Amino acid sequence: MSIEQICLTESEKTKPRLAYIPYQQAISWVSPVQKRGLNPSVSVFVTQRAYVRFSAHAGSDLENEVGGWLIGKWRADKSTGEQFVVVERILPAQHIRHGSAFLTFTHDSQVALYNEFEDRYPDKDLIGWYHTHPRMGIFFSDYDAWLHLNFFPELWQVALVIEPHSITGGFFIRQKDGALDQKRYFGFYELTNRQKRSIVHWRNVSTDNESIPSQGE
Ligand SMILES: [Zn+2]
Repeated sequence: MSIEQICLTESEKTKPRLAYIPYQQAISWVSPVQKRGLNPSVSVFVTQRAYVRFSAHAGSDLENEVGGWLIGKWRADKSTGEQFVVVERILPAQHIRHGSAFLTFTHDSQVALYNEFEDRYPDKDLIGWYHTHPRMGIFFSDYDAWLHLNFFPELWQVALVIEPHSITGGFFIRQKDGALDQKRYFGFYELTNRQKRSIVHWRNVSTDNESIPSQGE
């Protein structure tokens, strides 16, 4: 099957809408391989509802890879112009092909996901995709990188990898020059309620609230 056939997700939008970046309502989780000096093109925010959903899907099959799409908002901060995405919903893929170390979305799967996305979330953005690596750890395989480049080509589109046995996870985010590091994954900002009570249970991330810039900085 050709790439043209299944590349249904091309964004019509070239500019993000403006909003305030919600650092104040978020807990920052950083990964152990996320070094300063990396320059990710977007900050990733995740609602607790979305975190619960993708964690549940990841834990639903401990032998095979599962995955789907991440749906939400792509925005730029009103004062700084800094770009960020908010993962609000997931769309689990139904027709996927498993390998021992890869997952691929079939053509049917891409079409079904696209139709569901258009029907249910016409005002939202396709933030990226997620998939699991049972017993393999958090990294981006060459195949993952190929898939990301071809189907999620925007600088601001991200990929989440979850390992359901060790209960770990991380986001792969492009640098501002478009490069994608296949080993150095990122944590995320957990959007919380007013009490700032966390529900994050990944064992490989730690809180780093000191690093959050204060408003106007
Ligand atoms: Zn993978």
